[in-house]
Amino acid sequence: MADRIVAITFDDLPYVSAGSNPSTKAAIDAQRRIVQALQRAHVPATGFVNEDKVEALGPAGPLLLAKWNKGLLALGNHGYSHFDSNDFDAGSVEWEVLKGEATIRPMASSAGRTIPFFRFPYNHIGDTEPKRAAIEKLLADHGYRLAASTIDTSDYLFNNAYERAFAKRDRAMMRRVERAYLDHSRIQIDYYAELCRRVFRREVPAIMLLHANRLNAATIQPLLGLFRSGGYRFVSLSDAQSDPAYSTPVAASKFGPMWAYRWARARKVKVDGRLEQEPPVWVGTYAGETP
Ligand SMILES: [Zn+2]
Repeated sequence: MADRIVAITFDDLPYVSAGSNPSTKAAIDAQRRIVQALQRAHVPATGFVNEDKVEALGPAGPLLLAKWNKGLLALGNHGYSHFDSNDFDAGSVEWEVLKGEATIRPMASSAGRTIPFFRFPYNHIGDTEPKRAAIEKLLADHGYRLAASTIDTSDYLFNNAYERAFAKRDRAMMRRVERAYLDHSRIQIDYYAELCRRVFRREVPAIMLLHANRLNAATIQPLLGLFRSGGYRFVSLSDAQSDPAYSTPVAASKFGPMWAYRWARARKVKVDGRLEQEPPVWVGTYAGETP
């Protein structure tokens, strides 16, 4: 089998939930499950942090992040708030980047580490070319590389359904959402791998985009199993992005497509995004129902 590689990444650390005020207990439980599963399986991963989510958890916030500052786990910057760069000028983006370092920069330094990657909320890397270029420059000036991602499973949507089922103590529905999520993830992993092969005519290291939420805490082991049974080996984000594919210049966009779509555009390869499978309709419907 060809060399299949994936880097696992989690966004919205320490913890994100559908409700505005996640409980500290939920955050601690989810982080424990995610970190333990990664450590036991010796899987490298990068966790992208929103500083305002650290603040919201009080003293528990930095304690949870400390687990991501050693061994095969690494911290990344996801901005102070979960801002949308489409609505910001470059100066405000810089403020978000620097304020986003408040906890993670000193934490990493104290362990002799750096924070090599910044990932934009919504993967909005600049909606106009001048802004994208200005953002790229300011990230480089502050020692950051833009973090890419190649596999999106709409995990936030499944998690919204999962949180709703949890709130109703509907265990059968929770299991149903977990199964649907894993089924959809399996399809998306294959879909995006094929998309990358179409663009580059070879295997490209994948980058899995996940969120630090209740659903992924419950399914992290079978999720890793999907990659293992697909013949993947796990590498760090730095290793994945050292592949030359990630040096392909990508254009400004007001949307946040996965990187294969950006690469296809840059390399003028025709791909049809309509072939991508959407999450089951019932998941979105259930997630959106008012309690
Ligand atoms: Zn995010």
